[in-house]
Amino acid sequence: MINLLDYTLEELNNIVVSLGEPKFRGKQLHNAILNGKGYNDNTVLPKSMLAKLQENGYQMQAVKIYKTFKSKDKTIKFLFKLNDDNLIEGVLMNHNYGRTLCVSTQVGCKMNCAFCASGLKFVRNLSAGEILGQIVAANAFVGGTVSEREITNIVLMGSGEPLDNFDNVVKFLRYVTAEDGFNFSVRNITLSTCGIPSKIEKLADLGLSINLAISLHAPNDAVRRTIMPVAKSFPIKSIIEAANHYYMMTNRKIYIEYTLIDGVNSDISQARELADLLRDLNCRVNLITLNDVKERGLKGVNASKTNSFMRELLKCGITATIRRSLGDDVDGACGQLRNKELSGEKSSFEVKADSIKFDKKPRNKASNTDSRNDRKHSSDNSKFKADKKSSFDKKSSRENSRSTRKLDATKKQSRPSKKASSSKYISKKQYR
Ligand code: SF4
Repeated sequence: MINLLDYTLEELNNIVVSLGEPKFRGKQLHNAILNGKGYNDNTVLPKSMLAKLQENGYQMQAVKIYKTFKSKDKTIKFLFKLNDDNLIEGVLMNHNYGRTLCVSTQVGCKMNCAFCASGLKFVRNLSAGEILGQIVAANAFVGGTVSEREITNIVLMGSGEPLDNFDNVVKFLRYVTAEDGFNFSVRNITLSTCGIPSKIEKLADLGLSINLAISLHAPNDAVRRTIMPVAKSFPIKSIIEAANHYYMMTNRKIYIEYTLIDGVNSDISQARELADLLRDLNCRVNLITLNDVKERGLKGVNASKTNSFMRELLKCGITATIRRSLGDDVDGACGQLRNKELSGEKSSFEVKADSIKFDKKPRNKASNTDSRNDRKHSSDNSKFKADKKSSFDKKSSRENSRSTRKLDATKKQSRPSKKASSSKYISKKQYR
């Protein structure tokens, strides 16, 4: 089977011409597949051409919505079915500024993080067209089209480690930001990784400038190794260095994802250790409350402990927020829906797709930007990179000796220095 969503417009033009059709049919085919149309749907495409595509093994839809689940807060969870019958998950979150779709990048995941159900069964990588197909299916589901899309933001945070499927993910990012396609702005796309330093640097050097979130979940390597096997290969120091490189190349603040797990990483002393670790990184910490993962016997912490952890970070001068969890009641942990389906368990939150009603979202300029804004900002960004690089070079020798002194000082004092606290004073004031 060949997924047409795996091809660019130019490649589709070549395919239709090779089938003896005029070139302009390529653009029509491109529109049809980005609008989620299949062979049985009404399109402007002639039946004879569709028959030829079908005979040659081309698929118009890479992903189909197999089941839908609705949470109390109106978050929709999808079980998508791929053309080889594999299942993946997606989450559609409604905000007052638009709609965010969380997409998967692999069937299962190899990384085996202890707090995540996705790591239990890795099957294969998704192709770029299969990642894009999730946007296509969800956008059509809420009544959007390629020119009037209803999905405003994308997070690559579903099943799978995106940087472990690097080439397909980059190809997907190019497709989804293409002006002749969905035309998403890189500012509205966030990639979440468990932290593979060489790939973070490679992504930074590609100049795509999407938002980067790093799943850190621990203040030191010893704790991280107990919950994230990937930590055995990559020490935290190398991840922070790669994150700094990403910031330097893209001017994007780094998001640090930190899931609070009872008895593992949620002690106040660990908040101080985390603050110390992140002091020189331009970042924001998102604290996440764990959805209990029965399969791994891990529990989250209560609201008061979460607040205390955040307060300590803010006191230490680190910007931090508690991430609002959406759709927790519907088997919240990534991978749980798929695992339940594979084991034949039923979910009481399953609803018929046609019973879900949507209002059109107002097209909000701040959130629903497109790639034209990226081009407008790119010249500022290259100036930023040049300035930053030269100041970075000048600073690097000073920093080496400073960091040695800092390490010694850290040993002596567990509380942060006054200087560091005041450097991010705004966030403390905001919190109060
Ligand atoms: S948290 Fe992410 S990287 Fe870790 S197992 Fe789950 S999907 Fe994979």
